[in-house]
Amino acid sequence: MARKFIAAGNWKMNTTIKEGISLAQKLQDGKRDVNVVTILGVPATHLYPLKKKIKASSKILLAAQNCHHKVSGAYTGEISPAMLADLKIPYVILGHSERREYNHEDNALLASKLRAALDAGLKVIFCCGEALDIRKASTHVAHVKTQLVESLFFLSAAEMKNIVIAYEPIWAIGTGETATPQQAQEMHQAIRSMLSKKYGKRVAENTSILYGGSVKGNNAKEIFSQPDVDGGLVGGASLNADEFLQVINSF
Ligand code: PEP
Repeated sequence: MARKFIAAGNWKMNTTIKEGISLAQKLQDGKRDVNVVTILGVPATHLYPLKKKIKASSKILLAAQNCHHKVSGAYTGEISPAMLADLKIPYVILGHSERREYNHEDNALLASKLRAALDAGLKVIFCCGEALDIRKASTHVAHVKTQLVESLFFLSAAEMKNIVIAYEPIWAIGTGETATPQQAQEMHQAIRSMLSKKYGKRVAENTSILYGGSVKGNNAKEIFSQPDVDGGLVGGASLNADEFLQVINSF
C-alpha cells in the first residue's frame, strides 16, 4: 500500500458553526483532486454539525484538534478519544506546537494521548518540529528525533499505519515564513530514515509525512514536489476555500 497524499486543514479556534459549514460546503462543491485525502481539523463544537453536513461521497474527513489521554472520568472540560470515536471522527491531531506551548503538553503526555487515541480506533496526525533557536543551533534533526522516540516509537509497526506525521517548524507556523523546499525535504528524509531504522523500509515508505508552516496556494506545489513530502498541514490558508482548494490541487 503506497502512502497517501494528504491536505489537512487546521482551523484552530476559528469560525462560527455557520461559517464552518459554509467553508466545508465550498470545499465539498469545489473542483478537487479526489486522489488527495482532504482532512479538516475543526473546533470540537463543529465536529458533530459538520459530520452531519459533509456528504460521505465527498470523501472529506474530519479531525479533532486534541483529545484527552483517558477514556472517561473526572476531567472537566476534556474530550476523550472514545467520544470522538463514538461520533465516528476518524482523525485527531496530537502534539501541535501550540498545544505543546500553551497547554504544556510534553513528549510523555503525548505518548499517552497517542496510546489512548489508537486504542479508541482513531488515526493520529502527530506533529513535531523545532523552534527557531534549535534550528539556528543546527540541532533540529536531533530535536525531532527525540520527539518521535519519546512519543511515537513505542508503537508497533502494525499501529504505524494509523499514524500520519506532520513536520512543522515552529518558526514557520503562522509567521508567513516557510521552510524552503530543501529544508522541508532534508527533515522529511531524516524522519523517513528514522522510521526505516525503527520499523523497516516498508513502514517508512508507507507513512505519510506532511509539512506544515505557512503553506499557501502559491507555495504548496514546490513544497509538495519534494520526494519525501506527502502533503501539508495547513493553518491560515485552510480558512479560505479557494486558497485551500488551490493547496489541495497542488500535488
Ligand atoms: C498549523 O497550524 O499547523 C500551521 C501550519 O499554521 P499556518 O499554516 O498558518 O502556518
